[in-house]
Amino acid sequence: MKKKYPEHLSTSTDGKTSSSGMEQELKNLRRQVDTIDRQIVSLLVQRQAEVERVVALKKAHNLPVYHPAREADLISRLRTQGSEAGLDPDYLEELYRRILRQSRVVQTAQLARRGIRAGATVLIVGGRGSMGRYFRQWFSDAGYRVRVLDREGWPSVDELCAGIELAMISVPIELTTAVARELGPHLPEDCVLCDITSVKVSPLAAMLEAHPGPVVGLHPLFGPTTSTMDKQIIVVTPGRHQQACQWLIDQFSAWGGIILQTSSEEHDEIMSTVQTVRHFATFAFGQFLCRRGINLPRTLEFSSPIYRLELGMVGRLFAQDASLYSEIIFASPERRKLLKDYLASVEGNLEMIEADDREGFRAEFQKIADWFGPFSEQAMRESTFLIDKLIERF
Ligand code: NAD
Repeated sequence: MKKKYPEHLSTSTDGKTSSSGMEQELKNLRRQVDTIDRQIVSLLVQRQAEVERVVALKKAHNLPVYHPAREADLISRLRTQGSEAGLDPDYLEELYRRILRQSRVVQTAQLARRGIRAGATVLIVGGRGSMGRYFRQWFSDAGYRVRVLDREGWPSVDELCAGIELAMISVPIELTTAVARELGPHLPEDCVLCDITSVKVSPLAAMLEAHPGPVVGLHPLFGPTTSTMDKQIIVVTPGRHQQACQWLIDQFSAWGGIILQTSSEEHDEIMSTVQTVRHFATFAFGQFLCRRGINLPRTLEFSSPIYRLELGMVGRLFAQDASLYSEIIFASPERRKLLKDYLASVEGNLEMIEADDREGFRAEFQKIADWFGPFSEQAMRESTFLIDKLIERF
């Protein structure tokens, strides 16, 4: 039986679709794709509506926004489903990671307005600074009454401390211990005292000494330009009466943050490497480029995406506040000692360079690669992901 073609698809004698027929077919196919796109958008809207019902439930039961196990489970199911249906599982995973992030951002924005202890009064010491202003906004949006004690507010300290349930110290690192000592005697006995300093041992000790009530050291691993706390880490170093501090920790979870609890000693030790050495190494690279008078735009024209990414990390440092980094880098004698060790380690390569010792370089390289172990694989995967994103966007 002769196959029937739709009317618009006239076929020529050699069996090929004529050009007007082809255009019509293309139009029809495009129309179908448009219909599917509209369905996708409509399904995303439906998904969002369901997420909002989840938010309402979470709100009612004080549950955190991010549920890592559920997300991991969902991604793995979708990957399998995608493979079975002939879709690239990486493509599906990337798409879904974006969808899941959007749900979390929406949830966080809604939950942010929920105060775990709404109505309580919070005092932010250093509340006119960048982090101070940032947390002022979050606490106010969540229904707290927020007071500020900045440099010139000390004559009114008793008035400002009356009836507060939380005092958050957000002053420059080197002033935190002195401010804690000055503030302690004015605080109500059951008020929670916390700081957000990037070092933890000495501020925590000073707070514990200055205030007999609940004390907790915090370190948000993000800056004031972070628009959402989604998946941002807040390090918590318990001080005293942890139970009485729990509402504050729950508040950070409700805002979408991830709580990482540790001792102040471990925090400072790890941060020395994560922050001090890393920032200094970045600074030194930027300094070298600057001293050599490198033509940045020209190097970028020749650059591979990984160079662009690395240069982006260096440039990013110099787009920020110098005093923030000087405080972090020079925070303690231990950190300064660590930097000297780092420089000595770099200098240790001088002999190898002078001797043109390529064999020595390869041996050292292999030793380090073995030490990095399976992390190298993960690093490769994650940086490739970032590079792909960079290529996609720029
Ligand atoms: P900032 O310099 O912007 O603000 C500090 C504020 O403290 C200023 O308003 C200042 O007037 C006030 N201040 C100074 N001395 C005071 C005193 N004796 N009494 C009352 N107020 C006083 O600094 P920042 O960047 O907001 O940092 C504040 C804290 O947050 C630091 O401990 C820092 O380690 C920590 N932190 C900062 C970041 C960041 O990215 N900025 C990230 C995480 C943690």
